[in-house]
Amino acid sequence: MTATAKTTPYTYSFKKGDGKNKKLLGGKGANLCEMTQIGINVPPGFVISTEACLEYLDTKNQDLPSELMIQVKKQIKALEKDTGKGFGDADNMLLLSVRSGSALSMPGMMDTILNLGLNSKTLPGMIKLTGNKRFAWDSYRRFIQLFGKVALGISDEKFDKPFDLVKKREGATADTDLTANNFREISEIFLEVVQAETGSPFPEDVYEQLQLSIKAVFNSWMGKRAIDYRREFNITTDMANGTAVNIQTMVFGNMGDDCATGVGFTRNPGTGENVMFGEFLVNAQGEDVVAGIRTPKPVHELEQVMPQMYKELVALRDRLENHYREVQDYEYTIENGVLYCLQTRHGKMNATARVRTSLEMVKEEIITRNEALLRIDPEELEQLLHPRLDPESKQAPIAQGLPASPGASSGAIVFDADSAELARTAGEKVILVREETKPEDIHGFFAAEGVLTSRGGKTSHAAVVARGMGKPCVAGAEGIVVDVEKHTAQVGDTKLHEGDVITIDGGTGNVYLGEIDTVPPVFSDELRTILSWADEIAKLKIMSNADTVEAATQALDYGAMGIGLCRTERMFNASDRLPLVIDMILAKDVEARQQALDILRPIQRGDFKDLFKIMSPRPVTIRLLDPPIHEFLPNEKQLEQEIVHLKALKDTVEGVNDLMNTMQLLKRAADSKELPKPFAPGGRELVESAIAKKQQMLVKVRELFEVNPMLGHRGVRLGITYPEIYEMQVRAVLEAAAECYKEGFDVRPEMMVPQVCTSKELAWVRDIVDKVHAEVEAEYDVKLHFKFGSMIEVVRACMRAGRLAEHAEFFSFGTNDLTQSSFSFSREDAENKFLPLYEENDILQDNPFETLDVKGVGRLMEIAVDWGRKTKPDLKVGICGEQGGHPESIRFCNHIGLTYVSCSAPRVPIARLAAAQAKLTEKDYSLE
Ligand code: PEP
Ligand code: MG
Repeated sequence: MTATAKTTPYTYSFKKGDGKNKKLLGGKGANLCEMTQIGINVPPGFVISTEACLEYLDTKNQDLPSELMIQVKKQIKALEKDTGKGFGDADNMLLLSVRSGSALSMPGMMDTILNLGLNSKTLPGMIKLTGNKRFAWDSYRRFIQLFGKVALGISDEKFDKPFDLVKKREGATADTDLTANNFREISEIFLEVVQAETGSPFPEDVYEQLQLSIKAVFNSWMGKRAIDYRREFNITTDMANGTAVNIQTMVFGNMGDDCATGVGFTRNPGTGENVMFGEFLVNAQGEDVVAGIRTPKPVHELEQVMPQMYKELVALRDRLENHYREVQDYEYTIENGVLYCLQTRHGKMNATARVRTSLEMVKEEIITRNEALLRIDPEELEQLLHPRLDPESKQAPIAQGLPASPGASSGAIVFDADSAELARTAGEKVILVREETKPEDIHGFFAAEGVLTSRGGKTSHAAVVARGMGKPCVAGAEGIVVDVEKHTAQVGDTKLHEGDVITIDGGTGNVYLGEIDTVPPVFSDELRTILSWADEIAKLKIMSNADTVEAATQALDYGAMGIGLCRTERMFNASDRLPLVIDMILAKDVEARQQALDILRPIQRGDFKDLFKIMSPRPVTIRLLDPPIHEFLPNEKQLEQEIVHLKALKDTVEGVNDLMNTMQLLKRAADSKELPKPFAPGGRELVESAIAKKQQMLVKVRELFEVNPMLGHRGVRLGITYPEIYEMQVRAVLEAAAECYKEGFDVRPEMMVPQVCTSKELAWVRDIVDKVHAEVEAEYDVKLHFKFGSMIEVVRACMRAGRLAEHAEFFSFGTNDLTQSSFSFSREDAENKFLPLYEENDILQDNPFETLDVKGVGRLMEIAVDWGRKTKPDLKVGICGEQGGHPESIRFCNHIGLTYVSCSAPRVPIARLAAAQAKLTEKDYSLE
């Protein structure tokens, strides 16, 4: 007995194909099958599978699978039967469209051929059948051009040139001005173009036309346009492997006044409003709408022109949306009073529309709440939370850096924080432009509309601070050379001066010359409702990183459930505290340091009280001082320069004093009142004491110098060397809590220690906390409840998590530092040096400072959670690194059972939605 070889089915009739199998039939093909099968009037046709495409692309000589054309012929026979027409039949011709369609929609990226089946025999038949010579010749010339371009590889201009010549000769401004004879002449010229360009006549055999078109569509999958598109949108081979080919009976919207063609959305994609939306053209082909040759009319006007068709269109729209349970973007044609749907797909829309339609479709019982939550891309919400550049603006950027903190703003350039503050006081809008920023620039951040740096990455100081404040930041724009001393910046040939207006877009990293209008953000009631549903579903709590009243207020408004990280150093940098902090650093001994700390403590206490009250009764996690203290001092070079300037000034002051004395001799005593007094008496002493102070600072800066400050004397190491600093902070936290309790606020303070690598460090700080706790309780006569925890941001801390949990009630992963220490990539430099190259060449899939590296850093976290909870099963664990606001990272945090994620205030809504999605999809989560 011989076994019959099983043939692979490559073709699927619209009546039979599985409408759910987009991978095999492509999105468009699957939808055409589904629409046909639910009884929507779709012109009959069939799909050639993506499997056939892949087999074809795999062959050396570009051979179609041997069975394919046999199956295609069978399908054509069936089409002939269904339509009563014949493929290549001169009297009653079947004409086809051939279109691509992959699993993921790639609009306009691949090729389409229309009117296939026309040749010198079918054309006269078409003229006879339609009685419309002009229409037939117009269809023919369109077919020759499209086929010539797509299947035969002839460039557009070979056709456009002679076409334009005819138009010019006829004095025609639009194609509609051309006559049947003109189109006939054009068709004949086009046939000659094909002969001249390919050395062969235009194929007359309709099956040859079809076969060449199928190959052309397959080839377009590997065309440059399609490859670039896939790269741009990160479409992997696995997500969309190959394209299907859709072969469909042509219907014509351009056969007369009872014909039309149009495109529509089932709801308004700009606002989300539930109304008929779209445009149409009477007596036209789809191409005319897309190419903008004629101006289409709003769909409502169809009601007047073709009332019955409009009614049917409304029914079609309702049907599509109820069936797909999603807003649809559809195309239709009316041929001699019959409405056909040519295509439908899920509609792309902006974030406002996405949110509104989600809410309304739930109310209309089209989708469930969970489905509504899953149909919004959390990142999309960013559009709603920051001002954006006016989408109408077409201006080209002058430079590009990293998109470090989203939002857009314009302002006059200033090159240092003090000037920013001064300009702000004068009511001016400014952009702070620096090589890189330091904690001492904080007042400049407050004053500026946005920040631009020429160095540093997305976790650089500038980026993190700006994100925390919700201000736009472009970081590491290396094409800009900043000269701080001259107060200029060079960008290519352009020199920018202080006061020049620029616009930065922190969402794209673009920098523009001049002011560009922005569109303000809207945190709508609709979004609030959706996010309240998200909170009901999510397992993770969403906290915010916030260290100011403004950030905390915004975080609360955006739905934060507490503060997960308050970086206390930010409070030290405000201009009224920095001098005190400097005194503390310059102190010669503990006593002098304590004096400075005693002045600082009530100020810190006030800061903490503000945060506790805003957040009451939610937890507020205060991180004890972290950065190396030299960060509060100017750098060595700057100090040296200032000392030189001051010394020069001292001479000037002396000179002016000499001048004053001389003037006294020259003038009579009575006139002396009118003498200029550029410096008050004692000016010289003032300058001298300034020089002394700066020299003292210089000595300290040199003493504190470290080759590698990020791995240096910071965090808990600082707390152990200067215990009085941590003691002051702990006391300020507990006193603030005590005072809030007394004022009737329910507050939940938490304190955490940065940079811990061994449990002994934690125990050391815990001793301080216990001592101060007892003292404050006694002093205020209250019982104080708080939590004590450890940041986990060095690799060793992960490995020793079991021991650390003996001393900590919670862990907070500082994944900025943990990523830095795991990869040994400097968080300040990597993003500008080699990371882009790593991403381009797929050495790393993502930037690990942005998206948590789940396989490396994430694995360390998983171990730490596991071991920590072995010691303390109810250990609360969170993340407060920048990745905490990133949806993919949030999925991982949900997966390993974290208690909360903490992110900058403007990302809180994104994190709330992402946490709900993480929960809803947790069963499908895998690290691969
Ligand atoms: C971290 O390292 O992830 C963190 C939150 O701390 P910082 O960024 O302040 O070092
Ligand atoms: Mg850190």
